[in-house]
Amino acid sequence: MNILNHKDHDKKILHIGFDDTDSTNGRCTTHLAYLLADILIKKFKVNFIDFPLLIRLNPNIPLKTRGNGAVCLRIKGKEYEKIKEETIHFIENYSDLENGANPGLAFYEKNVISNDLISLSRNAMDMVLSRQIAEKIARKNNIKYYLFKKGYGLVGALAAIGCTLNKDHTYETIAYRKKVNIGTTRKIDEYKVKKLNDESFPFTFNNIDFRKNRILIAPHGPDPVFCGIRGEDPITTSLFFKNLQIDEELDGHMIFRSNQGTNLHLTNERRLSKILPFTSGIINCQVITKPIIIQGGHIIFYVKDYFNDILPVAVYEPTRLTKVAALLEIDDKIEIGYGAHIKSNNVKTLNLEYLLIKELKEIIYFKNPKCEKCGKKTKSEGKNKGFQCPLCKNKIKNVSKIAIKKNRDLKCGLYIPDPIAHRHLTKPLYRYNNEKKYNKKYISDLLKNTRWISKNSGGLI
Ligand code: ATP
Repeated sequence: MNILNHKDHDKKILHIGFDDTDSTNGRCTTHLAYLLADILIKKFKVNFIDFPLLIRLNPNIPLKTRGNGAVCLRIKGKEYEKIKEETIHFIENYSDLENGANPGLAFYEKNVISNDLISLSRNAMDMVLSRQIAEKIARKNNIKYYLFKKGYGLVGALAAIGCTLNKDHTYETIAYRKKVNIGTTRKIDEYKVKKLNDESFPFTFNNIDFRKNRILIAPHGPDPVFCGIRGEDPITTSLFFKNLQIDEELDGHMIFRSNQGTNLHLTNERRLSKILPFTSGIINCQVITKPIIIQGGHIIFYVKDYFNDILPVAVYEPTRLTKVAALLEIDDKIEIGYGAHIKSNNVKTLNLEYLLIKELKEIIYFKNPKCEKCGKKTKSEGKNKGFQCPLCKNKIKNVSKIAIKKNRDLKCGLYIPDPIAHRHLTKPLYRYNNEKKYNKKYISDLLKNTRWISKNSGGLI
C-alpha cells in the first residue's frame, strides 16, 4: 500500500522504527524520538513526510513497561547511511540498557509499506508475537535491523513502521522537561486544565477524570515527559498546551500522530476456546451466571459464545463498570472488549475493557395476589389450593400467582471505563461514530503548516 503517494519516486522514504528503549526507572521512547527528530532535521536537513508516529500496541502483553508505545519516523533526505549510523549510536547510548530496556531498531527504505509489515502491525495490536517472527519478516523485507540486549523492541519497531494509520487516528502534543527537573513534582494549574478541557471539548480527550477529580495529562514518574495533550488535531492539542502557561522551563515539545483512543486493539473476534492469554479482542456472548462481587469490589461472571465455549469475565473496580456489570442477568446478550489474562488459579479470564449490552433478558417473577378485602398480601394455601389473607382470613380460590416483569434498572447500550482506567488505546465515548477519515493531503498540509517540533535548547523549527 502506497500510503505516502510521493511524486519523487526515485528518492526512497526512510522509515525508522524503534521501541523498548526505556525502563520503569526512567527515559521514554517518545523522548528519544523527539531528540532524534531534532538531530535529523538540524544535522541532516531531512524532510518529515508524516508526523512522528506514536503507535500503541497490544496493552495486555506482559513485556510492556508502561503503555506499550513504539515510534516510527518517516523521512526523506540524503546521507541515509550516515543517518542510520547516527541513529544506531543514539539508540545505544540513550536507551536504559542497564535497567531492563531491550531495544529494537529497524530501517525500511521504501515508498510502499509491504503487506507483511501491515499484517505484522495489525497482529501486534492484539496478539503476542515473538522476536523470531519479527526477524523473519525483517529479513524477508530487506529491512536492516539492530537488536540491543534481548532485542524485544524489534516487534514494536516493525509494528510502528507497518502501522499506516490510514483510518481513524488522533494526535498528541507531548512536552518534555529539562534534565535538571526530571524527578521533581510537575506543577500544573488544575483550574486551567479544567477550563481548557471544557473549551476544547470534544477536540481533546482524557485530560481529566471528573469522578476522581484527577488531572490525567501528566505522568507521575521520573520520566522526561512533562505532559501530553491528546486530541483530534495538532492545532488544538498544541493550543491547549500553550495556554496551560506552564511555569517550569521546559525543553520543548513534539506532536505525534497516533492510534491512541482508536480501539485498534479491539477489532478481532475469536471464539472463546481459541482466545490465547495476553491477547485482546471482542466477543459476542451470553451471560450464563449471575455476577458475583469478589474481594476488592471486583465482579466475576461467566459467559458462553455461539459455540457454547465458556470463560469467566472479570470487571475491575477502578473501571467503574462494576455497577453496571452487577446488574447483568443470566441470558443477557452482550458484546465485550477484553484483555485475556491468566489468573493465579491458572484460569484464563477476560478482563472487561468495554461492555455493550445488546439484549436484556426479560425477567418475570411471581407474587401472591393481594387480599380483595383488606389489601394485605395473601399467603399460599398450597399448590392449586388458593390463597388466604393472614389478617382478615379471607380466602381466594381459582386465582393464580401474578406475573411481574422485573425492572432491570439497566439499559441496552455501550458502557466504557472511567478515563482514569483507560488504556492508551481505549476509545473515549464521544469518539464513537466520530472516527476520523484519513486524508493524505490534509495531513501533509497540517505537517507543513504546524510547528510540530520545538526544542528550546536547539531553537525552533
Ligand atoms: P512506553 O513506555 O513507550 O509507553 P512501554 O515502555 O510500556 O512503552 P516497552 O518498553 O516498549 O513498553 O516494552 C514493550 C515490549 O513489548 C517491546 O519490546 C515491544 O517490541 C514488545 N511488544 C509490543 N507489542 C508486542 C506484541 N504484540 N507481541 C510481542 N511483543 C510486543
